[in-house]
Amino acid sequence: MQYVIIGNGIAAAGAVEGIRHLDKEGAITVIDGERRGSYSRPLITYYLTGKRKPEQMRYRSERFFQQHRVKVLPEQAVKIDPQAGQVMLRSGQVLGYDRLLLATGASPVIPEILEKNGCDRVKTMYTWQDAEQLDLLIKPGQPAVVMGSGLIGLKTAEALCQRGMQITIIEKQPQVLPRLLSGPSAQLVGEHLQNNGMEILTSREVTGLQEDGQVIELDNGRRIEAQLVIAAVGTKPNISLAVAGGLAADHGIKVDSYLRTSVANIYAAGDVIETVDILSGRPAIMALLPLAHREGFVAGQNMAGGTYSYPGGIFMNSVNLMGMNIMAAGTPSAVGTTWQWRENDQYLEITTEGSCLKHYIALNMSQVAGPLTTIIERQMNFPESFWPEFIRQPDLTSLPRLYWEELREVSG
Ligand SMILES: Cc1cc2nc3c(=O)[nH]c(=O)nc-3n(C[C@H](O)[C@H](O)[C@H](O)COP(=O)(O)OP(=O)(O)OC[C@H]3O[C@@H](n4cnc5c(N)ncnc54)[C@H](O)[C@@H]3O)c2cc1C
Repeated sequence: MQYVIIGNGIAAAGAVEGIRHLDKEGAITVIDGERRGSYSRPLITYYLTGKRKPEQMRYRSERFFQQHRVKVLPEQAVKIDPQAGQVMLRSGQVLGYDRLLLATGASPVIPEILEKNGCDRVKTMYTWQDAEQLDLLIKPGQPAVVMGSGLIGLKTAEALCQRGMQITIIEKQPQVLPRLLSGPSAQLVGEHLQNNGMEILTSREVTGLQEDGQVIELDNGRRIEAQLVIAAVGTKPNISLAVAGGLAADHGIKVDSYLRTSVANIYAAGDVIETVDILSGRPAIMALLPLAHREGFVAGQNMAGGTYSYPGGIFMNSVNLMGMNIMAAGTPSAVGTTWQWRENDQYLEITTEGSCLKHYIALNMSQVAGPLTTIIERQMNFPESFWPEFIRQPDLTSLPRLYWEELREVSG
């Protein structure tokens, strides 16, 4: 059996493990478009601050690929031909496959205003190479503008701030981390970042950029000097190979519950696919590292003859910003009853529908957040009277016996 995997990110590593779980013999080739080997993308901002050295960036080591007898080609795939069962590489090489996995991830969106006026000072922060390039441009004491206050934008802002740059964050929405936090929790996070020296401008848009990128203009007429501009306004799945190859795709590649695309021997996993938010039952792009690995593993097993179904995932995120631990999980748009609790620098917000927890946001409460994620993931039901009690004193001891019993069962 000839397996070809396009992309050498998180989903690819999961797929190698999944294939080898069932097939010790088949030939596996991984096409590594970035030519960097397997690394953990979330670590790139830590690379920028020096908290991670190059040898600490690996997601899977070279030894892993040797042990699993995987051939890694530092190459870009430019076309797939599902009829012929072939992948064409930029070098002109053609690879045949019996089973193909598209694990091509996503790319940052470049706002139109920056695309038109692009210059050396405008950067994205998505790859290890981006971090290396940014590293050379950092000048302590100089101003940097970060467009977008999503997770990537804020982690980049944190790194630049820790390297001594003066940070202004510009966010189109009325709050920071708009896809992760509610208004009140975003307010606390925003205040925390401002107390750590960042300027945050919400409900503001960039409307102009001077040719040399040194001054950017906002919709309220304000002009801001910038030694560096970081575009962090979102990502889009890399679906072009799949679309050109005739595979069904919308925002992401369409897959069935076995992670098979519309072509029977082609699978897809990771940030490039449209999967299901299991809480809402709706299709969703869930660009999250743990899900990318899990999807890769399931797809890999199915490529090797397994019949494992992937139910979808839940949105969950955990990020530390300037010492503040931020965790959230569940369906952010859940409608139900929302309860809040706050003490000093700790904040908890939960949304319940009847007896079921649908969503939570926890600031500096990682001890409680872990169990709450489990409760959402397993869709555990507690008596309806439990949640108003819990929010009065939200700590581990307040969790009902049912939770601990279920946990004991899971851990055997
Ligand atoms: C700064 C940052 C922080 C993050 N923090 C978190 C976090 O805290 N928690 C979390 O859950 N997620 C986080 N993420 C997201 C997480 O990194 C992704 O969900 C994960 O990497 C997706 O894995 P993947 O394998 O689908 O794609 P990727 O890891 O992106 O790998 C895809 C690879 O395919 C390559 N490729 C694409 N097209 C081709 C082609 N034609 N030929 C060859 N190769 C190709 C790409 O270059 C890339 O190397 C973060 C991301 C960034 C950038």
